[in-house]
Amino acid sequence: SAFQDFKLNKQLLQAVEDLGYEDPSPIQKKAIPLALAGHDVMGIAQTGTGKTAAFVLPILMKTKYAQGMHPRALILAPTRELVMQIDKNISELSRYCDLRHLSIYGGVGPKTQIEAIQQGIDILVATPGRFLDIYQRGELVVKEIRTMVLDEADKMMDMGFMPQIRRILEVIPVKRQNLLFSATMPPKVLKLSEEFLEFPEIAEV
Ligand code: AMP
Repeated sequence: SAFQDFKLNKQLLQAVEDLGYEDPSPIQKKAIPLALAGHDVMGIAQTGTGKTAAFVLPILMKTKYAQGMHPRALILAPTRELVMQIDKNISELSRYCDLRHLSIYGGVGPKTQIEAIQQGIDILVATPGRFLDIYQRGELVVKEIRTMVLDEADKMMDMGFMPQIRRILEVIPVKRQNLLFSATMPPKVLKLSEEFLEFPEIAEV
């Protein structure tokens, strides 16, 4: 398949094949090479276009294998449902990788999530509120984060997450790759992307 044209390892190509993905979707064709090349990327794509794999595959490629104790990639999404859906796609695509990932969200007590973090984690998927809650308890070491994704950025802005996202951007390392995905590009998302992305490449479908 044309997935082989991307610089993905054989573990990822096998997982893609198992999932029955035959060809990369348009957003994947545009965003994956840019993200693999290390660019900040602004992806404009709706749900259902394969946007999740467009950021998950480059993250799995970059994060490579379990290492240390602390997350090296952070994916933020507006709702618990979306966080769980992203985590499920990570499970599917990382089935042949030796990587630890975890989703954290509100609506349940933090104890189990904190215990899971303490086991060591490579990729963290989180709602902004729960991320900050656990961070402020001193239970989350963020200094190893090298990749950050904001998924459904327009929805995050609509839900009033801007102050929390700003706070998160203040505490995570400055030297990192940023990927921002949004279904629409209203002025407040453009403003966010100006604050958050460095020389972004745009992937639009
Ligand atoms: P998403 O837009 O990320 O929510 O993905 C929507 C659905 O498309 C999910 O069930 C994915 O597993 C699936 N999907 C993602 N990429 C591909 C692809 N290249 N070919 C076929 N299905 C895909």
